[in-house]
This record gives sequence, C-alpha cells and structure tokens, in this order.
Amino acid sequence: AADTAKGTATQLHPDVESVVLSEEDIRGIVTRMGDEISRDYAGRNPLVVTVLRGAFIFTADLLRAIKVPCEVDFMAVSSYGNGVKSSGVVRIVKDLDTKVQGRDVIIAEDILDSGLTLSYLIKLLQARQPNSIEVAAFSVKDIEGKQPAVEPRYVGCHVPDAFVVGYGLDFAERYRNLPYVGILKPEVYS
Ligand code: 5GP
Ligand code: MG
Ligand code: MG
Repeated sequence: AADTAKGTATQLHPDVESVVLSEEDIRGIVTRMGDEISRDYAGRNPLVVTVLRGAFIFTADLLRAIKVPCEVDFMAVSSYGNGVKSSGVVRIVKDLDTKVQGRDVIIAEDILDSGLTLSYLIKLLQARQPNSIEVAAFSVKDIEGKQPAVEPRYVGCHVPDAFVVGYGLDFAERYRNLPYVGILKPEVYS
C-alpha cells in the first residue's frame, strides 16, 4: 500500500486508511510532554496512573521522557467493550495498588473522546484525597461543537473525528502493535 505524505518508510497495514501520526510525530509529541511534566513536577514524585489497556504504550514512552523521579501504577476500566462508540458505562476492571492519598497523580490517557471515562475516574480518585490530579492525554479527538468532559493539563495532539488505531489503540483488541496512529477503514468495523 502507498504511504501517506508523512514520509515514513512504515509499511501501511491493509486495514488502515491513512496515517494520522507517524512514529516520528509520536516521538516528538511524547518528548515534549515529558519535558513539560519534568518542568512542572520538579522536586516532586508524581504517580503516573495508566488507564489500561490503550494507554500502556504511551505510558512506557512518557515515563522514559520524564526526567524527575516518578512512579507508575495501572488501572483498567471498560467503557467501550469491543465496539467503537462510548456506552457511557464505565466499569473498574482493575484498581490501583498504590495509595493515592497525598500524591500528585498524573493520569495518562491514550485518547480523549467524550471524556466520560476520565471524568468518572477523576471523581473516583479525587475521593481518595490526592494532593493533585492532572491528565496527560496523548491525543484528543476533535469533534465539532463538542467539548470533552475533562480538560487535560497536557495534550499531545489533536486527531480527527474518526476511529483511529495503533500506538496502543485497538479495535476488538487488534492493531495495538502498530507503531503509528492511523484511521481504520470503516469497512473493517461496519
Ligand atoms: P471517552 O470516554 O473519552 O469517550 O472514551 C475514551 C476511550 O475510548 C479511550 O481511552 C479509548 O480507549 C476509546 N476510544 C475513543 N476513541 C477511540 C478511537 O478513535 N479509537 C480507539 N481505538 N479507541 C477509542
Ligand atoms: Mg483509554
Ligand atoms: Mg479499546
């Protein structure tokens, strides 16, 4: 398949319509986010909370881009099932092992769409009395006339209102391993 104008040598997956973020784009985004966090959290020891599974690859890269001492813990919630539309129903599948009280929490999110998942999660973690909670969203979906329920402190990039996969993002658990972010061909899920 032909590649996009992004100019990477990456072989495009046949189910992917076009590349939204190349590996090089991703590297630049994550490095910048790490720099911002390192500057803002100097002298502190933030707890990076990852929302599994989609955000695990972003978190692995982000952690290595953060230059201050930090910790990581994992949480799993389910809001999408295997579909492509938010059900609005969020279920905790795995809770944190780390105490949140008094901590500076940074929630690492793969993609912010309606923000329903995150606003639920923030309320839940707020009840555990952290010192602070901020959100680092690798990507925010641009939806005309719609604002997500949560405003992230750190935003990696904006992606178009399409269903994207790769860099941890799945459709029915597939495509997480693609090293780039691309738009899934609609015929794959419709
Ligand atoms: P929200 O609650 O913000 O509507 O949904 C957030 C979650 O839905 C994301 O963390 C992600 O797991 C999933 N999601 C939202 N948009 C997309 C998308 O375009 N592609 C994929 N693979 N997952 C998405
Ligand atoms: Mg997520
Ligand atoms: Mg998913």
